[in-house]
Amino acid sequence: MPAEEKTELPILPWRGGCQCGALRYEITGKPLTLYACHCTECQHQSASAYGLSLWVREATVHLAGKPAQWTRDTDSGHLMHCFFCPDCGSRLYHKGSEEPADPRQAILSIKAGSLDHARLLTPVGHIWTRSKAAGTLIPEGKPTFEAEPENYNGLVAAFARAYEIPD
Ligand SMILES: [Zn+2]
Ligand SMILES: [Zn+2]
Repeated sequence: MPAEEKTELPILPWRGGCQCGALRYEITGKPLTLYACHCTECQHQSASAYGLSLWVREATVHLAGKPAQWTRDTDSGHLMHCFFCPDCGSRLYHKGSEEPADPRQAILSIKAGSLDHARLLTPVGHIWTRSKAAGTLIPEGKPTFEAEPENYNGLVAAFARAYEIPD
């Protein structure tokens, strides 16, 4: 069987920032996955139809500027730390309160609409589709989950299959 055609994404570092430009970031390590989340938290957070989450290792994210922080409870009984621009309010990334044993494994979820090349990115899967906005179409042939997936391994594998990031 021929290998699945991969879409080539821009070479690292990837850059992005908030709406006013006061907060900028660079990602120097290959992201792990990109998915769309249709949960009501993401809808309220974005004031839009869904959230785009790009998982990256925290150690590979370099921030210029100081974000403000807000923390909320999650359904799993943990905390979600949410970071945003204190000037314009754009949400830039989230971090769960569960610290991995090895801090090098710590993950941030970048709100991917903040990337300078967001137009090139198609989410590899969709979660919380049971609360999706009525007008949002979910493409066929991608992993979808009615609620929170039991784990994110499938979405990480789908990202690796879909995308090539040149070294
Ligand atoms: Zn800003
Ligand atoms: Zn969500």
